[in-house]
Amino acid sequence: MPSKSDVEFFKIAVTKGFVDNAQGKRLITLLSQAENNAARLSIDKLMIMEEMLSPEQVKEIQDMQQRRIFYCPCGQKMNVFTFKPGEKARCKSCKRIIDIPDLK
Ligand SMILES: [Zn+2]
Repeated sequence: MPSKSDVEFFKIAVTKGFVDNAQGKRLITLLSQAENNAARLSIDKLMIMEEMLSPEQVKEIQDMQQRRIFYCPCGQKMNVFTFKPGEKARCKSCKRIIDIPDLK
């Protein structure tokens, strides 16, 4: 199974329109095969090898993964990488609606 971080990486790639779900399925298959061969292949390398992403796109996604954490005023940590700035999210803890800031 792909790691949590791999899944996140892929979700960002989809959100940004770099890949579609069909490519995603193929990617999961390739990742599983790599694991069966005891080769731990990272999703970013694999996507470059498969020419799904350019190295620039990979960097863009990795930058986003590092910026995805946002704290609600109540202290709850939120994963906001699938949201665009200006969208609204509900805090799991205090239930307040939060405007997603521009995290760039
Ligand atoms: Zn909150």
